Amino acid sequence: MTTTDQAVNPPHEDRTGHAHHHGLAGDPLAGLHLTGRIVRPTDLDWDAVRMPWNVAVDQHPIAAVLAADADDVTRTVRHAAAHRLAVTAQPGGHGASSDLRGVVLVRTGALDDIWIDAEARVARVGAGVKLGALQAALAGTGLTALCGSSGDVTVVGLALGGGLSWFSRAYGNGSRALRAAEVVDPRGHRRWVSDESDPELMWALRGGGGDFGVVTAVEVDLFPAPELHGGTLAFPGTAAPAVLRAWRDATTHAGPATTLWAALLHLPDIEAIPEPMRGQSLAIVQAMHLGDRATLDDLLADVRRAGPVLRDAIRPVDVAEVGQVAEDPEDPSPSMLAATRLRGMDDAAIDALVAAVGVGSGTPLLQVQLRHLGDALAEQAVPAVAGPDDSPYLVSGLAIVPAPELAPVMSGGLDALLAAVAPWATATAPLTFLDRTDTVARSYPGPDVVRLRLLKELVDPDGVIRSNRPVLDAPVAAGPVNAVVAEI
Ligand SMILES: Cc1cc2nc3c(=O)[nH]c(=O)nc-3n(C[C@H](O)[C@H](O)[C@H](O)COP(=O)(O)OP(=O)(O)OC[C@H]3O[C@@H](n4cnc5c(N)ncnc54)[C@H](O)[C@@H]3O)c2cc1C
Repeated sequence: MTTTDQAVNPPHEDRTGHAHHHGLAGDPLAGLHLTGRIVRPTDLDWDAVRMPWNVAVDQHPIAAVLAADADDVTRTVRHAAAHRLAVTAQPGGHGASSDLRGVVLVRTGALDDIWIDAEARVARVGAGVKLGALQAALAGTGLTALCGSSGDVTVVGLALGGGLSWFSRAYGNGSRALRAAEVVDPRGHRRWVSDESDPELMWALRGGGGDFGVVTAVEVDLFPAPELHGGTLAFPGTAAPAVLRAWRDATTHAGPATTLWAALLHLPDIEAIPEPMRGQSLAIVQAMHLGDRATLDDLLADVRRAGPVLRDAIRPVDVAEVGQVAEDPEDPSPSMLAATRLRGMDDAAIDALVAAVGVGSGTPLLQVQLRHLGDALAEQAVPAVAGPDDSPYLVSGLAIVPAPELAPVMSGGLDALLAAVAPWATATAPLTFLDRTDTVARSYPGPDVVRLRLLKELVDPDGVIRSNRPVLDAPVAAGPVNAVVAEI
């Protein structure tokens, strides 16, 4: 990868002809000229533009920049640096975390270029490209990207967050695939960075989130997926104790090519949910297998016998539809999340989980999901803050918060989940599974947090770049690391 310090075009007139409030007293973006648009609180589409996918997070940035290209991003960061403003890149807002007061929001949706070299097993994509779009572009290549449960999440978002893919047990976490990134640094200089040019920055970008610059494009590895099978098995919620045991046993036999998730679902009694599922509780098992049907069916044989199968949607999966297999919601949803990795899952853990969030528990949660980790996730070789982790499972709870008054109830439900699994919990979670109040200290060990903080202070002393998980918000653990920071 070449590392050219790209020339930045001088600001030019807005080709869209939008009437900006140039020179208005108090307009912090006065003088910023873009090919794309600046959307301000007085604009008619302000609410549509400012809100994130997770509409439970009520964002009120100063303004939003709909970047038309990487030059727009560069100009915006330069303007922010010169005027002591902060900038946050938020392609979709699945991970929105704060009210963004005083911050300029950059939407990257128009940076949608996809370039694939199947032979070299690499894709270069813009910062607006969603995993669903990349998977669609990979149809027929026999290759996959590290796509997670939702095709609606961006490639950049998952890579910067060390995200979990269906294929992470085979190929590692989302950051493992990050070869190089085009970054606008906090001073507004744009260039491609790689392990050769910027090893420390690459280490931080692989899991440290978007706190070190605005990424305009990435190069990510692609991985072999010549044959895929997967889908969902659904059982009544009352079968959860047996289904979860059978799922857990299957995970202990699964090789890296197979990923099995389980979930308890409490579907609300609302019209949006089709009958006969409306208002029902379900125990589900979801699978993705890099290989043939017979191997997957063998692994699932005892799971299928664990209860009455209400739905069996195990099938051949196209590379293009990987992001739909988990059937995650695509429409914006007001949600709250809590997660922890687990050290293991014995029968007592399953019983504790079912008692806390199963049928009859009265839990307000929509979903409690168990993901099988391990294999490549425990061995990850590239230098990354999202490094190897040998925890075998991750549990996460998801609550829908239809009205802000319900937040305390939902929060209580998530607390009850975490309390129930506490004896097995590591109390750590990948960055992409953090809740609003969590910091990177929940994802990484103390010395790594210190290293992230030091890099942040070095490259962005004025705090121009603001991620959804600002590394400086993370508490520094007591002990020798404090001495390191004190010395600097
Ligand atoms: C339905 C659903 C399913 C999900 N499934 C998975 C899953 O299977 N595995 C998993 O690991 N996670 C999953 N997530 C979490 C998701 O990966 C995170 O929410 C992540 O934030 C990516 O979402 P996004 O692309 O919308 O980014 P946003 O939420 O818009 O951005 C989040 C942060 O990413 C950083 N960022 C994004 N783009 C840039 C950029 N161009 N430059 C610099 N920083 C940037 C910024 O710090 C930003 O604050 C899921 C979330 C939802 C809601």
